[in-house]
Amino acid sequence: MECMNTKEAEMAEKYDVVVVGAGAAGLSAALMLGRSKRRTLVLDGGPPRNAPSEHSHGFFTRDGASPEELLRHGRRDLEAYPSVEVREGVAVGASGSDGDFEVGLDGGEAVAARKILLASGVVDEMPDIPGFAEAWGRGIFHCPYCHGWEVRDAPLAVYGDGASLMHRVVLIRNLSRDLVAITDGSGVSDEDRGKVSALGVLLYESGISRVESDEETGKLVRIVLGDGAEIEREGLSRTRRKGRDRSSPRCSGVK
Ligand SMILES: Cc1cc2nc3c(=O)[nH]c(=O)nc-3n(C[C@H](O)[C@H](O)[C@H](O)COP(=O)(O)OP(=O)(O)OC[C@H]3O[C@@H](n4cnc5c(N)ncnc54)[C@H](O)[C@@H]3O)c2cc1C
Repeated sequence: MECMNTKEAEMAEKYDVVVVGAGAAGLSAALMLGRSKRRTLVLDGGPPRNAPSEHSHGFFTRDGASPEELLRHGRRDLEAYPSVEVREGVAVGASGSDGDFEVGLDGGEAVAARKILLASGVVDEMPDIPGFAEAWGRGIFHCPYCHGWEVRDAPLAVYGDGASLMHRVVLIRNLSRDLVAITDGSGVSDEDRGKVSALGVLLYESGISRVESDEETGKLVRIVLGDGAEIEREGLSRTRRKGRDRSSPRCSGVK
């Protein structure tokens, strides 16, 4: 009988699929793969995108669950499927082609897979505004459906530019009439200015220089504008910016 070295033995155990990322997408994919008897490895490389939020909302049957709780449920469902393995680890590189991939892990190990499923999410890039990143997912939210209800009827602000600012103003105004809009002045047309004004929403065009939150509760308290004016707000809705795909920098060799 021929002896295999460690590397050969590892690679011999080829997975049908390596799923990169154990967030909602990765665990959902693994569930279906498990149910199809596919030998699957799910790589959990760290916290999910919504980790800064205390609660997740609007997810069928799990409204109000914490992000960790959601993933715990997802992992528990996978326990029924013996062909699925979830492991902590970051995919740092991949090579090969369809049917014959090699995925490198951060510990130096490599695993073989017929397919790679990228479920590595996106990274939300923060503007260079003091206090903004700290308030992200708490006083500052990106999705009115996920976190708008919690600040309904409170003093709110929308921050963005162009058409997305207008769109968000209309959405958020339905949650609270105490609403202001903030932009750095770029991309707001005279027509939009007219629309915001017709809705009774004040438009500030000097951008944001600082965001202040309560240290203990993490709740948003105040927004300091670019011209120094201060407005007390309990929620700030940031219009959507495309998140950066997480897979490319962390996992070289993947296109
Ligand atoms: C602040 C905030 C609050 C939100 N609240 C809600 C809400 O209330 N309700 C709602 O429906 N949606 C909410 N969302 C949206 C929700 O978070 C996303 O839709 C969801 O997380 C997307 O899941 P995903 O699996 O695609 O990505 P993610 O949740 O980001 O999961 C990707 C996973 O892949 C891992 N990973 C990345 N690279 C690698 C690698 N190379 N190797 C191994 N692992 C890797 C990451 O660490 C992460 O764990 C919120 C988003 C934000 C930013």
